[in-house]
Amino acid sequence: MIRPVVVIVDMLNDFVTGELGAKRAKKIIGPLQRLVGFAHEKGVPVVFSNDAHYPQDIEITRKWGQHAMKGSYGAEVILELGPDLTKDYIVEKRTYSGFYETGLDSLLRDLYNGEGAKTLVLCGLHTHMCVQHTAADAFFRGYYLIVASDGTEAFTAQYHKRGLEDLKNVYGAKVLTVEEIIKDWTKP
Ligand code: ZN
Repeated sequence: MIRPVVVIVDMLNDFVTGELGAKRAKKIIGPLQRLVGFAHEKGVPVVFSNDAHYPQDIEITRKWGQHAMKGSYGAEVILELGPDLTKDYIVEKRTYSGFYETGLDSLLRDLYNGEGAKTLVLCGLHTHMCVQHTAADAFFRGYYLIVASDGTEAFTAQYHKRGLEDLKNVYGAKVLTVEEIIKDWTKP
């Protein structure tokens, strides 16, 4: 895996237990804890790509109503995943894609002593929305994509499945379990 970075999308209080809480989101907490723990051990950077909305954002005004409002408890990463601010990065976003009008791309390009990240290990919520839109923008910018099948979720099993299929078929993402990703990292 070339210069990997773990990107965790919207694992925020509002998406797990709050305004847009999804029961299925709880299933991925365990695998993500394992992935983040292992990334820390291996020195793989971890980026939290977080909704931080203003009341006039397009998602709020046209589609979802208030959620993950900037500075609120709902917009914080769930306690179970840290983050460890001594090493993790938080990049705020105002719509589905982690790249759109954010500093994510320049951050990724500065990692690995300026060589830049090359492989994004994408996980979080929702497979067919924010994860997928982030994958699209990553694909356009030339990143390789790995998606953790048990580290992403959506409101329904169908949405999750559809998201994984599109990630694979449209953006060439490799879909692996967290354990498979970890195995890849421990290869000699
Ligand atoms: Zn949002």
